[in-house]
Amino acid sequence: MDTRESSEGDLRAGAPASATAPEASGGAGSVAQEQVWGQGGGQSDAEGSITVENPATGEVIGTVAEIGAQELERMAERGRQAQRPWEALGFEGRGEILRRAQRWVMDNSERIIETIVRETGKTYEDAQFAELLYAANAFGFWAKKAPKYLAEERVSSSQILVKGKKLEISYRPRGLVGVIGPWNYPLTNSFGDCIPALAAGNAVILKPSPFTPFTSLLMAEGMRECGLPEDVLQVATGGAQTGAALIELVDMIMFTGSTRTGRKVAQAAGARLIPCSLELGGKDPIIVLADADVERAANVAAYYSMQNAGQTCISIERAYVEAPVYDEFVRRVAEKIGSLRVGRPEGPGSVEVGAITFPPQLDVIREHVQDAIDKGARVLTGGHERTDSGGRFYEPTVIVDVDHTMKVMREETFGPVLPIMKVRDAEEAIHLANESIYGLGASVFTRDARRGEEIARRIDAGAVDVNDALINYTVLELPMGGHKCSGLGQRHGPAGIRKYCSVQSRVVTARLAPKREPHMFPYKASTSRLLGRLFKLLYGRGRAKAR
Ligand code: NAD
Repeated sequence: MDTRESSEGDLRAGAPASATAPEASGGAGSVAQEQVWGQGGGQSDAEGSITVENPATGEVIGTVAEIGAQELERMAERGRQAQRPWEALGFEGRGEILRRAQRWVMDNSERIIETIVRETGKTYEDAQFAELLYAANAFGFWAKKAPKYLAEERVSSSQILVKGKKLEISYRPRGLVGVIGPWNYPLTNSFGDCIPALAAGNAVILKPSPFTPFTSLLMAEGMRECGLPEDVLQVATGGAQTGAALIELVDMIMFTGSTRTGRKVAQAAGARLIPCSLELGGKDPIIVLADADVERAANVAAYYSMQNAGQTCISIERAYVEAPVYDEFVRRVAEKIGSLRVGRPEGPGSVEVGAITFPPQLDVIREHVQDAIDKGARVLTGGHERTDSGGRFYEPTVIVDVDHTMKVMREETFGPVLPIMKVRDAEEAIHLANESIYGLGASVFTRDARRGEEIARRIDAGAVDVNDALINYTVLELPMGGHKCSGLGQRHGPAGIRKYCSVQSRVVTARLAPKREPHMFPYKASTSRLLGRLFKLLYGRGRAKAR
C-alpha cells in the first residue's frame, strides 16, 4: 500500500490573493509568523497565500497566492475564451510559438535552473539534465510531431457494408485542460505536460505543487514573451483544494503525483465523466544477472538511484542481484554511492546529491531505513539525515540483507536509498520485481541482450530498459506511463497528445450512393438469405481452413 498522504491534504483554501515573485517575499521572519500549518515550505498562511522555502537552506524564497474556487472560475472562463482563437491558429501558428519558447528556454537557461534549484534544493546538474534539457527538447518535439500525430487519418475496413465509403478519424482539442503537478520536477512534470496540450490547441490551467510554484510562473512569463496569447496558459497556484476545484472546471485532467492523490483525482474526474491521465508513484527494480557487465550495472544503479536525491518517480528503488555477482555488485555500488557529496548546491559540480524537497518525505525515508534495520538489514553507507546547512538532506544510503517484509522493498521511499537483495536466479528476480503494487519502470542487466528483452517482456511495468535505466523517459517518441497503481494513460508518443483531444470517426457516403441499402427496411427473406451467403463467403473461410 502507498502509505503517503497527499503533500498538503490539510491545506485550507484561502481568499484569493495576487501572486508575488520570489523577490517580493515579505522576508523569512514575517512570513514564517503568519503560517498556520506546520513549519515547512509550501504552507498556507493566514492571508490565503503560500510561503515557499528553499529546502537546501530553509530560507523563505517567496509567497504565492492560494487561488480559490471563485478566482478559478474566472480563470476557466478566460481560458475558454482564449482557446478558440488559439485552436484557429493551426499547427503552424502554434508550432512557431513553441519553437520560439524552445529558444527562450536556452536563452534563459541559467535563470530557469536557478529558479528550479532554489525551490527544489536539487543540484545544478539535476535541474540542467532532467529538467531544462527535457523542456527544450519537448518544445521542438511537440511543435514537429503535433501535426503528424493529430493529422486526419483515412482508414480502410473489412466491413462489407461500408465498401466505397470514406472512413476518417480526426482529433480536435478538448478545450480547457487542467494540469496538476508534483514538486519533484517542476519543469518536466508540471510544465512539461502543458506543452502537448497546448500544441493540440487547448487552453491550459496549470496547478503546480505549492512547494515549487515559481518555475511554472517563470515558464508562463516566458511563454507570454514568446507570443502565447493571453490566458491560453494560466497558472493557478495553490494546494490540494485548488487542485480539487480545478478538476470541477476543466474538460480533461492531467495529473502527476502520488498514487494516493491519483485515486482522489480519478474519483473526481469519474464523477464528472471527464477523462483523466494519471502518472503516479513507483518502486522501480533493477535486475542484475550473473553475466552482466557489473561495472556498468553498478554505475547505472548508483546514478539512477541517487540522481535528484532519489526523488524521481522512476528512480531505481530496489536491486535484485544474482548470487554469483552479488558481492562484487554490492562492493562497487557501496563504494560509488559512499563517495557522493551531499549538501547545499552551490552551482555546477558542487554536490552530487541535493536536498529533500518535501518536508514529510524525510520522515518516510527515515521510517523505511529504520524499519529495514529493525528487521535485520545492514546499512553499508549513509543511513542518516543531515541538516548542517539549515536545509533537509539525507545521506546517500545502501542497504543489504533486505527482503520483502521490509517497507524499503515494497513502498515508495522517494529518497537517496538503494536496498540490494541477493537472488538465486532470474526467475526469482522476475517474481520479486513483479511483487509490487507499482509498475512504472524497471531495468535488466545481462550481456545477452536477447535474454534481457525476454525478461523485460515478463516484467509488469510501463517501461523496461535493458542494460540501461530511466533513459526511456527522455525519448519522447516512446510512450511513458505506469501499470497497476503507477497510473492510467501515457505521456509521450502519439498517445501523449491524442489524450488531449476528442476523437471523431466519420463515415462519408458519396452522393452517388443507392437510395436504399440492402440491409435496410423492409426485411425480405430472399435478401436476408443472400446476405447470409455473402457473410459466410467473407467470414466463414477462416473456420473452414482451420478445420
Ligand atoms: P501529491 O499527490 O501529494 O501532489 C501532487 C499534486 O496534487 C500537487 O500539486 C497537489 O497540490 C495536488 N493535490 C493534492 N491533493 C489534491 C486533490 N485532492 N485534488 C487535486 N489535486 C490535489 O504528490 P507529490 O508529493 O507532489 O509528488 C510526489 C509523487 O509524485 C510521488 O509519488 C512520485 O512518484 C509521483 N510522480 C510521478 C511521476 C510519473 O510520471 N509517474 C512523475 C513525478 C512524480
